[in-house]
Amino acid sequence: MIWLGHITAPGMQISREPRDSVREAVQEMPGQEKPVQEMPVQEMPGKEKPVQEMPGQKMPALASRETQTFFAMDTIISMEIYGDHKEEAVKRAMNQIDSLEALWSVTREGSDVYELNHHQGSPVKVSEETRELVSFALGMEQETGGAFNPSLYPVVKTWGFTTREYQIPKEEELQRLLEHTDFQKLQIEGEAIILPERMEIDFGAVAKGYTGDLVVETMKKCGITSGIVNLGGNVALIGQTPDGRPWRTGIRSPYGEGTIGVLEAEDCHIITSGGYERYFTGEDGKVYWHILDPKTGCPADSGIISATIVGTEGNRCDALSTAAFVMGLEGAVSYWRAHEGIEMILITEDNQIYLTEGLDGRFTLNEMSQGIPVHVIKK
Ligand code: ADP
Ligand code: MG
Repeated sequence: MIWLGHITAPGMQISREPRDSVREAVQEMPGQEKPVQEMPVQEMPGKEKPVQEMPGQKMPALASRETQTFFAMDTIISMEIYGDHKEEAVKRAMNQIDSLEALWSVTREGSDVYELNHHQGSPVKVSEETRELVSFALGMEQETGGAFNPSLYPVVKTWGFTTREYQIPKEEELQRLLEHTDFQKLQIEGEAIILPERMEIDFGAVAKGYTGDLVVETMKKCGITSGIVNLGGNVALIGQTPDGRPWRTGIRSPYGEGTIGVLEAEDCHIITSGGYERYFTGEDGKVYWHILDPKTGCPADSGIISATIVGTEGNRCDALSTAAFVMGLEGAVSYWRAHEGIEMILITEDNQIYLTEGLDGRFTLNEMSQGIPVHVIKK
């Protein structure tokens, strides 16, 4: 994670995880502080006390900010916020993240996702948030022509991406596992969800984006007018900078540490998927990463090495960053042409950068990346 003034890098990506009505729970339990779990909570050195106001003299917004960095959802989460009730906003946001993790963790016993994965074939009562997430995911699976598919979990496990005991599975094994990945066969019945026999789901590709939406909603309700919430590389921007300019967000380089360029944006989510997040090199010398093509069960080999989606809905941006990585340039661009409200930065393996026209003039390459061709895609 890099903090350079107002430059923040969507560096580390996250994974998944979450209990009962989280959106309300936070509001309903004032004063009931949930410890932020086993995670080390660490205050940023820059945490500043509000500057004292002289009577009658209003201090500029910059004088008072609240920052917080902590570990949850398998990643580093950091916040930098400005506005009213900042401490309360941070506290509520952290509780909310903790509650969502308790609902959507694929490994935590008792989470909605864990229970679903362990009771296939029978109805499992889940929280409202989980039902919303699942119906959203069903829609996205359809809209992306199956490129986004949360029911690949058994395949993800077979490759060893969950345990880091990596292996290249046999073709027959992949084919056998792919027989149970028709996500549309999942059923929602009232307050319950029924997974078909042998299906297992994981929302690693969308949970952080969804969490970003809910956290921003909570923070705005508290009185936050400006800020950055970085959920391990999924960046949510609230409003503009305190001095009224767009935020400058570093876009992670797929070629190594650091950023490739800076995007100017405000009040939106910037979410990147890349093959560099989790991968291993097989005995055959090939690199295998954690974003899988649902058609083959193998790491997506679409020619895209990094897909950044910018838009006002974090859940959508997250699902699409994964889907674009699977669809490839042509598929991602035709999706963009057919849908409003999102913009993309796509980097291909032949080292070209493609910007959709809404980002034209807002993205600047770093000095080190000068020379990489940037193409603007028109509707
Ligand atoms: P990250 O979690 O690194 O931010 P993504 O948002 O792209 O990256 O999500 C990748 C995770 O989603 C994988 O670790 C895996 O659990 C799951 N996954 C892999 N391939 C797909 C896919 N095609 N559709 C939906 N989820 C996927
Ligand atoms: Mg994603």
